[in-house]
Amino acid sequence: MSYQVIARKWRPKTFEDVVGQDHVVKTMRNAIEQNRLAQAYLLCGPRGTGKTTLARIFAKALNCEKGPTIVPCCQCNNCKEIDSGNSLDVIEIDGASNNKVEDVHQKILETVNFAPVAGKFKIYYIDEVHMLTNQAFNALLKTIEEPPAHARFIFATTEADKVIGTIVSRCQRFDLRRIAIPEISGQLRKISDAEGITIDDDAIYALARGADGGMRDAESALDQIISYTGSNITEQDVLGVFGLVSREAIEGIAEAVLTSDIPRIINLISSLDSSGKDLRRLTAELIAHFRNILIYIQMGGYDPSLNLTDAQIETLKKQAAITNTAAVLSVTENLIELDGKLRLSLSPRILLETALIRSAKSASVVDLEKILKKLTNLKLELGGGDAATTASPVRQSIANTPTVSNQQIASNIPSYPVVQPVAKRTATEAAPQETKAEIEEAIFETQPIQEKSQLDDIESDIALRKRVEANPLVQEVISMFGGTIRGVRK
Ligand SMILES: [Zn+2]
Repeated sequence: MSYQVIARKWRPKTFEDVVGQDHVVKTMRNAIEQNRLAQAYLLCGPRGTGKTTLARIFAKALNCEKGPTIVPCCQCNNCKEIDSGNSLDVIEIDGASNNKVEDVHQKILETVNFAPVAGKFKIYYIDEVHMLTNQAFNALLKTIEEPPAHARFIFATTEADKVIGTIVSRCQRFDLRRIAIPEISGQLRKISDAEGITIDDDAIYALARGADGGMRDAESALDQIISYTGSNITEQDVLGVFGLVSREAIEGIAEAVLTSDIPRIINLISSLDSSGKDLRRLTAELIAHFRNILIYIQMGGYDPSLNLTDAQIETLKKQAAITNTAAVLSVTENLIELDGKLRLSLSPRILLETALIRSAKSASVVDLEKILKKLTNLKLELGGGDAATTASPVRQSIANTPTVSNQQIASNIPSYPVVQPVAKRTATEAAPQETKAEIEEAIFETQPIQEKSQLDDIESDIALRKRVEANPLVQEVISMFGGTIRGVRK
């Protein structure tokens, strides 16, 4: 048998083989099982996420000699012909090159009324359907709405918003998602093992990162790297061929930012830039890395859903230990802002350097929560003592907090001291007796960050931080410390 590229050889043949599109698979299987077939389906999604694959599996499920069935046999003539794209009953049309009204007439309207040849259904699959002209779309409308009982339509597009509304409203729409890195890695590992390819975890991870959510791209990249290096593949091979940045470099930059090692940041960026690495992709990968750190901190340890290698987990553990939520959020915010600017920039290196240096500066200052804890401890040491003996605004402010016994504090840790405007009060005035709960409520207007169970959306955390910053009490603490509290602007 002649050589077949990996993406074709490993194209999923049944619903069970499809990776990363569970929501679509489930609906399609249910429709077949419950005999509730729509007359037309619209599959939307980026390239390489499985649109044609799903259309063919769906066609097999309907036209298998044992069908309609959710487990097509893949052995009968109908199944084999569909798999190879030769079935007379499954008409695959490329919408980009058959976009005129004549094409629609010739390929669809003139044939749709004839009964299927071998299967039970006649299935029209139109890829890149958004390329059809308006007239072509309009010519199709009536047939899609009221097709002959044996006809079904499957449309696919990478640009759903270009498909006219009148078509969309006549279809059941499925949005295929970009496939996650762990799912792509898993599939690449399976393929490599079966094909007898030796490839290390970092190399697989690099291939999966480079594919940007497309399984076909990942498989093509694996093919290419096998042609280039043979059957023994390392991370360096993959990075060299695809211009990616190594995992270690990304972790190195993150560490330099978190430890405010600015010379190291500049050296790392300089060497990556001069070796022609894609700085926009690097930014995206840094954002992903900081998100992992954030989740590690919030979950109080490694969360299996991150699906990382042992070496990555080890790094995560180290970096989470030297930072805090506010610092990571601030760095992430800087990087997301940078990502938006890089699209239009002619000098990405300068932008990247500035953003990282700014992040490094802000990552080094003290965490707000730590300060509050320190204040409590200080207060304990002073025993709520006489603040008038010192001119320090910190001590003055601490002295103004209501008296709480050591026992009370011990049973209430963490406990936050009441901080009042320093300038407006003297040591002799009594501070209002706010309870700990009130103070906490004031500081964290919403749930405390630690109680958020899911951190999928980093941006929502940034919004939360902004709300915390805007709180007058927090502002007060900031002014006490001359505006050096981590990530909080004066
Ligand atoms: Zn079959």
